[in-house]
Amino acid sequence: MSLFKLTLKELQEKFTRGEISATEIARAFLLRLNQVESKIKAYVTLRDKDALLVQAKSIDQSLQGWRKTQPLMAMPLAIKDNICTKGLRTTCSSRILEDFEPPYDATVMARLNLHQPLILGKTNLDEFAMGSSTEHSAFGPSRNPWNPKFIPGGSSGGSAAAVAADECVAALGSDTGGSIRQPAACCGVVGFKPTYGRVSRYGLVAFASSLDQIGPITKTVTDAAILLNFIAGHDPLDSTSSRKETPDFTKSLKKKDVKRLVIGIPREYFADGLDPEVSETVQDAIQTLKELGGSIQEVSLPFTQQAIATYYLIATAEASSNLARFDGVRYGMRAKETKSLAEMYRLSRSQGFGPEVKRRIMLGTYALSAGYYDAYYAKAQAVRTLIQRDFASVFETVDLLVSPVMPTPAFLLGARLEDPLQMYLSDVYTIPSSLAGIPAISVPCGFSTMGLPIGLQIMGRPFDEPTVLRAAHAYEQATTWHTRRPVIRS
Ligand code: GLN
Repeated sequence: MSLFKLTLKELQEKFTRGEISATEIARAFLLRLNQVESKIKAYVTLRDKDALLVQAKSIDQSLQGWRKTQPLMAMPLAIKDNICTKGLRTTCSSRILEDFEPPYDATVMARLNLHQPLILGKTNLDEFAMGSSTEHSAFGPSRNPWNPKFIPGGSSGGSAAAVAADECVAALGSDTGGSIRQPAACCGVVGFKPTYGRVSRYGLVAFASSLDQIGPITKTVTDAAILLNFIAGHDPLDSTSSRKETPDFTKSLKKKDVKRLVIGIPREYFADGLDPEVSETVQDAIQTLKELGGSIQEVSLPFTQQAIATYYLIATAEASSNLARFDGVRYGMRAKETKSLAEMYRLSRSQGFGPEVKRRIMLGTYALSAGYYDAYYAKAQAVRTLIQRDFASVFETVDLLVSPVMPTPAFLLGARLEDPLQMYLSDVYTIPSSLAGIPAISVPCGFSTMGLPIGLQIMGRPFDEPTVLRAAHAYEQATTWHTRRPVIRS
């Protein structure tokens, strides 16, 4: 079997048993990239080939004789391009950071690098993670490996496409309102947004700081748990990172059932706007969870309807403030031949940012401005609390919530580009859990008649990743969706 088809766990095992070398892994993936990357365009930046092979060789040499105990060693990973990688260009898919090489590693990178993975490159995203399709990338969209005419989802579309197209064994993405789960659903892979605070945000280029979380995008739930083990845990460099103990997430995968778990089905997530095929597929998945021993209960999250509006006030307000740092002075691009400081700021920002980012900065600045603050930003914060209470109250009676990830399967490239509201609606089912800060996973649960993947969302109580993983794994093991791989035609 080709090495690039293996899951992280399988590849790890082969490497640990000494059946394959780091150099063989590097070569296999370089070949795969060579074959499919021009069709998928998952990456913004690929690691230098020679540097990668030198690293692989040095791993092999260092191992002479003894077999490794470090489970990430030589594993080929892809990293979303809004996560700082020391010395490796980090663009956020924006012109303004086109040549930016971070002087430091994000905490997640520092943690991964301790175990010597092979970082293959940085993956494409909607500029500054603002979008649901990667079409807002300044470097052009990535393609859905199941059908290149369709979006791979976003904003972590490059990471999800890279995993689905076997262009890496696993990847990191970031999720502010759905950006890990929605592309994972579109590409038929697993995407896990941990509880806000579970993973350090240090070195993740901030979009909306009260929502952003880094998480794994993988081929299986087991792989997501493995990767999460490496990146989770308190970090003094991120004041919002939690001090809660980090469990071994792979332990929650032992039970292959959902017995004694009460699973809530939020009525509001099956209302108008849900594609009938997605609805049917998710209903089938709920039936499977029932057969696995779960007790299914309909619940209500009445403030679901307000989530999109709330999110687009809070996220844009935070973005307008976070993105103020890109002024042409400290980072990235600077407009040339300007006559004054003010003009330099203005031109650097107007040339450096794309249209969606500008739209969000303007919306956010408006929501925060004197006179409108109470009506918009403060109001949105109050509604966010109501949304959080919705979840807190249903979690008194249920252990998990299950829903679709996205109202439709992936849409055609270009279909929603001119209609921001339609684009924003791609995230109706992922945004509420982001506002509440709770953990949520997307697992493959079927295909549309067009042959495009459909995702199942499982949400849990704050810091109860283990139960979310347990249910997702039980479901995955009871079905075969995760074993299907796209055929990428030349
Ligand atoms: N699609 C949503 C947005 O455009 C969410 C993005 C994200 O999670 N980074 O804001």
